[in-house]
This record gives sequence, C-alpha cells and structure tokens, in this order.
Amino acid sequence: DIQLAERVNRVKPSPTMAVTARAAEMRAAGHDIIGLGAGEPDFDTPEHISEAAIEAIRQGQTRYTAVDGTPALKSAIIRKLQRDNALAYEANQILVSSGAKQSLYNLFSAVLNPGDEVVIPAPYWVSYPDMALLADATPVVIEAGQEQRFKITPEQLEAAITDHTRIVVLNSPSNPTGSAYSRAEFEALGEVLRRHPDVLIASDDIYEHILWTEAPFCNIVMACPDLFDRTVVVNGVSKGYAMTGWRIGYAAGPAKVIGAMKKIQSQSTSNASSISQAASVAALDGDQSVIPPMIKAFRDRHDYVVGRLNAMKGVSCIHGDGTFYAYPNVAGAIDALEAVADDTALAEYLIDEANVALVPGTAFGLPGHVRISYATSMDNLEKAMDRLEAVFGKA
Ligand code: PLP
Repeated sequence: DIQLAERVNRVKPSPTMAVTARAAEMRAAGHDIIGLGAGEPDFDTPEHISEAAIEAIRQGQTRYTAVDGTPALKSAIIRKLQRDNALAYEANQILVSSGAKQSLYNLFSAVLNPGDEVVIPAPYWVSYPDMALLADATPVVIEAGQEQRFKITPEQLEAAITDHTRIVVLNSPSNPTGSAYSRAEFEALGEVLRRHPDVLIASDDIYEHILWTEAPFCNIVMACPDLFDRTVVVNGVSKGYAMTGWRIGYAAGPAKVIGAMKKIQSQSTSNASSISQAASVAALDGDQSVIPPMIKAFRDRHDYVVGRLNAMKGVSCIHGDGTFYAYPNVAGAIDALEAVADDTALAEYLIDEANVALVPGTAFGLPGHVRISYATSMDNLEKAMDRLEAVFGKA
C-alpha cells in the first residue's frame, strides 16, 4: 500500500472548493444551480492590464525572473505601499509570490516550529488553520460572533496569546464576514501586541480596495507604526483588480523574515509567472479608476442581499464594510427546518431544495452561519434570494 505523509492527514481540502465542485456536479446533471460560493470577483481583468501581459509576451518576457520578483514589480509594490498605506519598504523587504496564498504559506513555513501557536480570529479564511498545521504549528482560534461584528476584542487577544504564540493573523476587511476593523480598534489591539514583543503579526490586506466605510482603509501597522518591525503585510492583485487567475501576491516585512520566505520559495516554486508580474506592474502603476465601478457594483449587491436576507424568517445579517461576502446568522432557520441539524446540513439542503450553492459557516470556524458570495450578477442574486425566501419564508 502507498504510504502518505502524516501531514496530509492533518489538513482537509478547501471546503469552499468542495461546494463549488458539488454545484458543478449538479449543473452537469442538468440542474439550474446558482453558485454563491465563489471567492472571486465576477469581473474581467481590466483591459490595460491584460494588454500589458500580451505586450510582455511579445517582448519575450517569458523567462525565469528573480525569485523574489522582477525589479519593475518590486518597485511598483514599494510605490503602492507608500502611496496607499504610507509604509516605506526597501527592496529586500518585498517578496512576490504566486498569490497572497503562497505569501502566507511561505510566512508560516518560514517562522513556525512544532509547538508554536498561531492566533486566528474566527470566522477565518479557511486556509489559515490548515497552513499552520502544515507548518507543524497549532492554530489557536478566537471566536468573534455577530454581536461583536465578528471582530475580536483586546481582552480576547490578550487571553489567546501564550509563550508559544508566534503569529497573530489579522484580516480586514474580512473573508468571510465583510467586517473591517476601525483605526481605533486596531490601536486597541496594538496595545495588547506591544506587551508581547516576540509575536509576529500577519496583516492580510487582500480586500483592501473592496471597502465602503467612510474612513479610508487602515491596517494594524498603519494604526500602530511602532509595530512595523514585526508585521508582515500580505496583499496582492487578485481581488481588487479582478486578477485571481493571474496568481500574483506579495509580502512586505522585516528583511530577515522576507529573506527566509524567499529561501523557501526558491526551493519550491521559484518566481511567480513573468507574464503575470508584468500585468501586475500595470495594475499597480496604471489607472486606478478601474476599481471604483467594481466597488460600486459590490456595494449595490451587498445592500440588496443584506436587505433581502433580513426579510427572511430565522435569518439575520449585519451590514458589511467591504469584500463581496455576507455572513448571515441562520440559527433560527436551522431550528425551523426539521430535516436540517446544522449549517453543513443546511448548505446541502439548499443545494438540493433551492438549487443555491453557498458555504456553511463551520468551514470558517463559526457555525450557525453561512457565507454568501455576491460576486455574481444582480439577476442571479434576485433569483437566489427568491429561492432562499421560498425555503425560509418571510420574516
Ligand atoms: N487571503 C484571503 C482572506 C482570501 O480570501 C484569499 C483568497 O480567497 C487570499 C488571501 C488569497 O488570495 P490570492 O492567493 O488569490 O492572492
């Protein structure tokens, strides 16, 4: 019999992909399934970005690049971090990877040892705990429910940090909830982190641009500049520029950590795609007016979806600050449906009975909820909400 590595058994396949696969199966069998599971914008990559990639191919930019990224893209990233975030980095503090997902994977691999702990607020992006496990570390989950807008308090953070804590992960605006921390909330978390100088902070800013709060985007290190030397900012072009398939993300942080991450990447994937890197220069340096129309569409859909959800029996949903996800509490609906015991069963029931695919909250570490992605057309959303309402009833 073929023996697999023990680490394989520690993790589970991405549950968001499982729902997408089930939806595809049902579709292939002839069912009219509306997919609300997707974790990506439904828009095409803006024209000038695609053109830059085509031009790069024509110019023969089709060879290996430096492991940590082309000088052109690293400069564009440094300019972006200065322009948007007022953060100043040198070239040896930047690593370009094949998606923010690889940036985070590199980070966890570079700093975690067996017995180390990673503090992860729930609901969380599904990959954080599994990446910690793959790096031989232990995820320590802090639960933040709807009543606290899915955001952890300083007291909760203090209680979660131990002598073994190596990384605290912060993701704002958040997948799956759409909640963003305010500057004041970051300042309060910063006070706790200041008391634990050996803890690194991973700031996952991938949804930076998809935000509609009155206050501009903020992250932990923008709020607490004294934490600069132990924060790794992770970002990328996937969500803001509708470039998920191009696979470009980046990390910015202490040279020592970035250097270790680069070493790991040099022995696994080497550089990210040369063509995608050229496209990403165009994204970061080019016309930023391509972003607001996408944000406007996401916001309109958000308002519609949240309004409809709150008019359903047993469903309650808070208004999000950004992203393209809603995270309604469906505990009342689960109680009302005799055939359904929990959110996982509810997601299966909704595929079968309403032909709507969404992701159960258990996948994100906070049961009793589901995640709805509204990165799809208004037509689809209207149909999907009608179908959900037919199952749940009007409030
Ligand atoms: N972080 C969060 C919170 C995400 O939702 C995602 C994508 O779903 C990523 C990181 C990874 O993005 P990418 O690897 O496409 O850059």
